Amino acid sequence: MAIVAVDDTDSRSGGMCTTWIGSEIADRLPDPTAYLVRLCPAVEHKTRGNGAVAVADDTVTADALASIARDLVTAHAVLEDPETNPGVVAVESSSAPTEVIDFGRSAVHREVTREEATTARAPLDARTHAWGNGRGLIGATAAVAAVLGRATGHPSRWLRSWSYETIAYREHPRWGTERTVSVEPAKPIIARRWPAVWDTIDPTAGVCACVPNSPCPVLFGIRGDDPDDIAAVVAAIDSEPIARHTTFHTNQGTDGHLRPATIAALTAGRSFRTAGTVGAEPRDHRGGRVTVPIVAEGVTVECVAFAPTGPFRHIVRGLRPGDRIIACGEVEDGSLKLEKLALTNRSLTVDATPRCPGCNRTMESAGRDQGFRCRSCGTTGRYRRRVPDRSIAIGWYEVPPGARRHLAAPLARVQTDLPAFAYRG
Ligand code: ATP
Repeated sequence: MAIVAVDDTDSRSGGMCTTWIGSEIADRLPDPTAYLVRLCPAVEHKTRGNGAVAVADDTVTADALASIARDLVTAHAVLEDPETNPGVVAVESSSAPTEVIDFGRSAVHREVTREEATTARAPLDARTHAWGNGRGLIGATAAVAAVLGRATGHPSRWLRSWSYETIAYREHPRWGTERTVSVEPAKPIIARRWPAVWDTIDPTAGVCACVPNSPCPVLFGIRGDDPDDIAAVVAAIDSEPIARHTTFHTNQGTDGHLRPATIAALTAGRSFRTAGTVGAEPRDHRGGRVTVPIVAEGVTVECVAFAPTGPFRHIVRGLRPGDRIIACGEVEDGSLKLEKLALTNRSLTVDATPRCPGCNRTMESAGRDQGFRCRSCGTTGRYRRRVPDRSIAIGWYEVPPGARRHLAAPLARVQTDLPAFAYRG
C-alpha cells in the first residue's frame, strides 16, 4: 500500500487547513482513502486541532504520491509564516513495524521530537519533503503510523473504534468570508441518525458544533460512525455552494490520547484517565472556572472545568467530599482539565463540626482523620452528617459538543456499565 501524509501547512492567521490539502491529494487519485489523524492536543506548536492528514492508494507509487503532495504544499501552504513548517512523508509498505506504531501512539499522547520521528521512519524507506524547520515531519510520520496500524489491523488501543468525518469545503472565492450554513432543515435527520452521527449541534449553546469560525476552507464537518448516516445529514444541510466533500477515516472521538494512570503518575502535557476521591468542596473562580480536588493514595490533583464547558460545571459543583470519581483530561500546571467524568460512588455523609454532647461547646478537629475533641472537657468522637440531597446521579458526564476535544470520545459512542448522560445531536 502507498501512503502519503502531510502536516503543518496552516498558520493561525492564514486561511489554509491541512485537511484541504488532503482532499486535494485525494481528488487527484484513482482509488484514494483519506485519513485525518488527531495528535497530542497539548503540543505547543499546534495551530488549532493538531491534525495531520494521510491518503492511501494501492494503485499508485509512493514517489507519485510524494510528488503530488509536495506540489500542493508548495502552492498552498502558508510558507511565509515562520510558524508554518510543513512535512510530507510517503511510504510503500504492507507491514506496520513496532517502532512505527509505538511512535504514532506516543505522538497522540505526548510531545515527541523530530529525532524520534526520524528513528521511527528508519524501517520504512520513506520519501520525505520538509520546509522550514521540518517540524511537520513529526505529524506526517505519526499519520503514516496510524494508517499502517489501521490497514494491518494492529490491536493497539489508540487504533481501535475509529470514526468518520465528512468535510464540506467552500468555493475558493468565499474563503475568509462569512459562512452561509443552516442546519435547521437537517435537525429531524440529525435527531434520527444520532448516535451514528454525533456532535453536529451543541444544544447548550444553540450553535452548530459542525461549523468552524476560522477563515479556513472548511464549510462544515459531520462526524459519525457510518458514512451513509453522515451522508444523509450532509445532504439535509442548507448552505452556500459546496466545492467538494471528502470523507476522512479518523481517530476523532476515540479517547486515543488518554492513558490510565494513578494520580501520583500524572504528567504535565499528557492526557489521562484517573480515579480518586473528592477531597474538598468544589470552588467557583473568577473567569468562570470550577475546580475540585481529587485524592488517591495521599496524592491530590485539582480537576478543572472551564467556562466554555457551560452546564458541565454544574456537575462538578454537585460533587461532594467523599465522592469517588473517574476523571479524564489533559494535565497542565498540576491540574487536570476535565473532558468527562464518572461519578462512581456517592458520598452520603460529610464531616461536620459537632457540638460536644457533654458541655454543648463546639468541638474542634483532633487532627487529620482523628475525629473531633472538645477543648473544654476533652470528649472525643467521630461525627458525620448525612448530605441532605444529591443533585447528581451515579454515571458518566461530558462537556458539551462545542467544548469537546477532537480526540475525546463523546458518551454517545462509549460503552459503559454506568448510566451515561450523553448530549444528543
Ligand atoms: P491545521 O490542522 O490547521 O493544519 P494544526 O492545529 O494541526 O493545524 P499544525 O499547524 O499542523 O497544527 O502544527 C502542529 C505541529 O506540531 C506540526 O508541525 C506537527 O508535526 C507537530 N506535532 C504534532 N504532534 C506532535 C507531537 N505529539 N509532538 C511534537 N510535535 C507534534
